[in-house]
Amino acid sequence: STEAVADIALIGLAVMGQNIILNMNDHGFVVCAYNRTTEKVDKFLANEAKGTNIVGAKSLEEMVAKLKKPRRVMMLVKAGSAVDSFIEQLVPLLEKGDIIIDGGNSEYTDSQRRCKTLSDKGFLFVGCGVSGGEEGARYGPSLMPGGCAGAWPHVKDIFQAISAKVGSDPCCDWVGSDGAGHYVKMVHNGIEYGDMQLICEAYDLMKNGLGLSNDEMSKVFADWNKGELDSFLIEISSEIMAFKDKDGGPLVEKIRDAAGQKGTGKWTAISALDKGMPVTLIGESVFARCLSSLKDERTAASKVFPAPSVDLSKYKSNTKEYIEQIRQALYASKIISYAQGFMLLKEAAKTYNWELNYGSIALMWRGGCIIRSRFLGNIKEAFDKNPSLQNLLMDDFFKNAILSCQVSWRKVIGMAAEIGVPTPAFSCALAFFDGYRSERLPANLIQAQRDYFGAHTYELLSNPGTFIHTNWTGRG
Ligand code: NAP
Repeated sequence: STEAVADIALIGLAVMGQNIILNMNDHGFVVCAYNRTTEKVDKFLANEAKGTNIVGAKSLEEMVAKLKKPRRVMMLVKAGSAVDSFIEQLVPLLEKGDIIIDGGNSEYTDSQRRCKTLSDKGFLFVGCGVSGGEEGARYGPSLMPGGCAGAWPHVKDIFQAISAKVGSDPCCDWVGSDGAGHYVKMVHNGIEYGDMQLICEAYDLMKNGLGLSNDEMSKVFADWNKGELDSFLIEISSEIMAFKDKDGGPLVEKIRDAAGQKGTGKWTAISALDKGMPVTLIGESVFARCLSSLKDERTAASKVFPAPSVDLSKYKSNTKEYIEQIRQALYASKIISYAQGFMLLKEAAKTYNWELNYGSIALMWRGGCIIRSRFLGNIKEAFDKNPSLQNLLMDDFFKNAILSCQVSWRKVIGMAAEIGVPTPAFSCALAFFDGYRSERLPANLIQAQRDYFGAHTYELLSNPGTFIHTNWTGRG
């Protein structure tokens, strides 16, 4: 039948779409499922959706006819032209006031464009970041919706019902206009790159510096997960360390050490460069993946440049102490990474006139998504205490955390440099911290050099705002 029975339509029956539909169904919403390859609709209805209230459609016309008004259509399809193609097909079938939601990993600039085009036609567009993978989609993702604010009252109930919860708080709130939701999702992914890289550097130091076995490292990560570092990524790292292959050895050691990427970390780094924000840790994490994928070159270089010959016994005989130092270095670096991420969000908010609520963003990331952690609860508290907090580092909780980790952090980077274990994220975090806390940086020399070779002018400390040029050579 084509009775208007469905609360929402979902286009895209791949992993994410199927699981979000089942999640919506669990919460009492009637969903109409559609997919470009329509055989997948039948298959889904006959298998995963069997015995549920989910209905299907074999054409977009049929799908639209099955929707209650105002109609809500959510896409979970491959980001890029597939989204534009569906929007183009939907527009003639929908009415003004209907809501079109893109839940894919779209670039925020695409969401800005789509929001504008669809608003001009009278539709309400939502660009919604979705995080948490398959498991999150099924049982509670982190949802970061932005776009036409008029859409929010129409999607709030569904979104907050299906999202992850921390206590009774949903990990979903309205982020801001046009591309704000996808921007916040992009920064989430960038931070995810950083968190993963930091954990990898701790692993490398424990393995190659302290000589720990995988079972020992599994135990260390499990211990860390009971404290300040309590997070999904530390938890899975503990499980990965302990996971044995059929031969009884740790599977992770057999995996080719060349990291892949899909681009959201890169987009975050590009946006940081565009906006002139020193989001160094995410940038280094993207570059670390790039370097890892030069496996053949690295193999050749390893023959030419062996690791420095260092007596590791002082580290190996004192593992307990060094494990704690590495934990503190990881924690301090992580604080820097999030401080940088929020600096970028603040700058983007300024550029695009978004009224971002930073405490609420921290809460959206607190559960459901890949970077979920206890730590994000502390960030939420910091912004709740002071919504106009200039920088996370200036909050008392984080200030004290950094101060108490600082000595260990410096020692660990010293150790890494001495033994030749690469720690780009730990190191760039410390370099950022030392730059950020410096009243005076050597940039005065850069200004002098620029003025010397290019007459770019400079300001005097004693007279800011006035730009002058000096003839440095005395020549005409
Ligand atoms: P996906 O593999 O990214 O995309 C597959 C879906 O897109 C299928 O429904 C496919 O339809 C459709 N599609 C692809 N190209 C199309 C085109 N040119 N025209 C029309 N439809 C097209 O699916 P996914 O992994 O479930 O992800 C969906 C979205 O969520 C993506 O944007 C992804 O980046 C994002 N996301 C994924 C995850 C994750 O963990 N997988 C997490 C968060 C966000 P056919 O069946 O007809 O090919």
